[in-house]
Amino acid sequence: MNGSVAQSLLTEEEREFQAVVRQFMDTHVRPIVPEMERAGRPPAELLKLMGDQGLLGCFAPEEYGGGGGSLMSRAIVAEQTARVDAGLDATLFVNMSLIARHLIQRGTEEQKRRYLVPLIAGTSSASICLTEAHGGSDALSPRTTARLDGDEWVVNGSKTFITNAPIADVFLVFARTSGENRRARGGTAFLVEKDTPGLSVGRPFDKLSLRSSPTAEVFLEDVRVPAGQVLGEVDMGFYYMLEGLDLERVFEGASNTGIAQACLELAVEYSSQREVFGQALSSYQLTQDKIARMATGVETSRVMFYHLIRELERGEEVTRSAAIIKLHSSLVAVEASREVVQILGGYGLMEEYPAARLYRDAKHHEIGAGTSEIMKTIIARETYKAAGAGR
Ligand SMILES: Cc1cc2nc3c(=O)[nH]c(=O)nc-3n(C[C@H](O)[C@H](O)[C@H](O)COP(=O)(O)OP(=O)(O)OC[C@H]3O[C@@H](n4cnc5c(N)ncnc54)[C@H](O)[C@@H]3O)c2cc1C
Repeated sequence: MNGSVAQSLLTEEEREFQAVVRQFMDTHVRPIVPEMERAGRPPAELLKLMGDQGLLGCFAPEEYGGGGGSLMSRAIVAEQTARVDAGLDATLFVNMSLIARHLIQRGTEEQKRRYLVPLIAGTSSASICLTEAHGGSDALSPRTTARLDGDEWVVNGSKTFITNAPIADVFLVFARTSGENRRARGGTAFLVEKDTPGLSVGRPFDKLSLRSSPTAEVFLEDVRVPAGQVLGEVDMGFYYMLEGLDLERVFEGASNTGIAQACLELAVEYSSQREVFGQALSSYQLTQDKIARMATGVETSRVMFYHLIRELERGEEVTRSAAIIKLHSSLVAVEASREVVQILGGYGLMEEYPAARLYRDAKHHEIGAGTSEIMKTIIARETYKAAGAGR
């Protein structure tokens, strides 16, 4: 966009890629969003098409079918996907930003061939199973356990709110294998295939947000998992999960910026055309105030998230900033979605306009991937730490 600081943080090549992805989303995804929301899942053909077009594994190594691009290429796809459908973004967030990245970092060659290649091709989906019914914020307290029996692990427990569970071919399950509750050491990540006896998936939840992305419970009853299905090392799984959290939160910046951008575009378009009291809605300063605040939120979120992607590419430590971008950008998205509904008036409440969906979807991001309260506790903790005043 003209005069955008954020755009100046992208290379020429990245801006061209951004335009291609934006065009793809407007052409192939926008027309089918209501259908995807009704079906409660993205069509398999869409994921395959995205795989064929190189939009899924753009950041992954070429030897596994990826594009060998930077992390920014994945961020561009995430933002442009969320701009059109936050549900599809959630499904791809798990498939690519979480599972594919875990596999690239820790998977054996065999695991990469078996699970990473089809994810990149868009012919399979995956789930990450951490949250349990007794509380998701307390992430190091899973009651799901695994014990070694011969050369197999036996996993027992249950998980809830699991994105993609009804369409997943493989589940990355975090279970305690040793150590005490809330200790990072002693958790192990297992790759469990969907047809493994003892693994079952509940009915998809009927939920407020992200309706095109299916979410369900996952039950594990005496599930026998061969030792070769451990991702990385035994007892190190929670460390992998914790290491990934900063990146996850920075990518939340992509999702929220995409949603807020969609709100802004719709608000500008509608207020320019709608006449009230004989004048365009856009001519009133009360409307301009809303547009100005939305545009400011979009720009500040985008600048910060692009900047943080660059820091992640350089391997820098971003814990405090990652929590700030998650907190700030979700607030921006929620406020922008509230304002766009307001600008559309009664039409804002009608599902035939995208404002209602944006309002429903934005709210998710104050809860999923770590709540706003948890982000605030991290920001405060890191701020005290930086000031040398331990708490
Ligand atoms: C649509 C959707 C998809 C999801 N997908 C996945 C997935 O794929 N995989 C997965 O593992 N999980 C997933 N989750 C789970 C998600 O990460 C959790 O919902 C989230 O971490 C919050 O956990 P909780 O819902 O159990 O809330 P709780 O942890 O019970 O929190 C309830 C409230 O208490 C507040 N709270 C908690 N601790 C504190 C504190 N110390 N101080 C003050 N307030 C506090 C919280 O901020 C929140 O407001 C998904 C959730 C949703 C809604």
